[in-house]
Amino acid sequence: MPKPPLRAPGEPGLAAQRRRMQVIIRRLRRAYPDAHCSLNYATPLELLVATILSAQCTDARVNLVTKDLFQKYRSAADYAQADLETLQEDIRPTGFYRNKAKALQGMGKRLAEAFGGEVPRAMDDLLTLPGVARKTANVVLGNAFGQAPGIVVDTHVARLSARLGFSNAPTPEKIERDLMAIVPPRHYVMLPHWLIFHGRAVCRARGPRCGECMLADLCPSAGDGQAGAQAGAQAARRP
Ligand code: SF4
Repeated sequence: MPKPPLRAPGEPGLAAQRRRMQVIIRRLRRAYPDAHCSLNYATPLELLVATILSAQCTDARVNLVTKDLFQKYRSAADYAQADLETLQEDIRPTGFYRNKAKALQGMGKRLAEAFGGEVPRAMDDLLTLPGVARKTANVVLGNAFGQAPGIVVDTHVARLSARLGFSNAPTPEKIERDLMAIVPPRHYVMLPHWLIFHGRAVCRARGPRCGECMLADLCPSAGDGQAGAQAGAQAARRP
C-alpha cells in the first residue's frame, strides 16, 4: 500500500516534520504510558554514576553492578578516595572498566573540590566533570532535576531518528539539535524514553518489526531493515 505523503503540498519542511513528530509522540505516549529511565538510582549522584557506567553496556547489567556499588560508595568523596584497582574490579562487568573507573574517580574529585560534593544542576558545570558529555548531562538534568535543556541521544534515539527521517546527522550533538527544532520542549525528557522503549520492543537495531509498528504509515524506512543502524552504532560509542 502506498504511504501517505509526509508533507502536504506547499508545506515547509520543518512545519511538516513538527506535525509528523506530534502524531508520533501521541502514538508513542499511548503505547508506552509507563516509559521511564531504566537505570536504578535514588539520588542524582547515583544516576550520574549509573549513566557513566551505561556507556556501551545494557541498563540491566549496570543495575546489577550498581546494586552493590551504591552500598559501598555513598558520596562523591567515596569515589574520589577510592583505590583505582578496587573500583575497576567493582565495575568490571560493565566493560571499559579502566576508563570508567578513572572517570568515576575524577568525577568524585571534581564534585568534592568544585561543587561541595553535590551534583551541579547546570549543563555547563556538569560538562566539566570527567566522563560526562551532553548525553549524560541531559539524563541527569532531565531525570534527577526535572530540567530539560536538551534531548538525550543514545543508540536507540539515534537509530530511530534516522529511520523516522528526522535526522541523519553523524553525531549525537547534531541529532539532538535536529530533534530540538521539531520537538516541543515539554517532551524533551520523555521522548527519549518513548523512543528507547519502542527501539527495544519493535524498532530493533537488527530486524525492526515494521509489520507490527504503529508508526509504519508515518515512517519513510518502513520495510527497510538496515536503515539507521549505522547512526545508532555511532551514538553508542559516545559517553
Ligand atoms: S516502521 Fe519499521 S523502521 Fe519505521 S519506526 Fe517502525 S519498526 Fe522502525
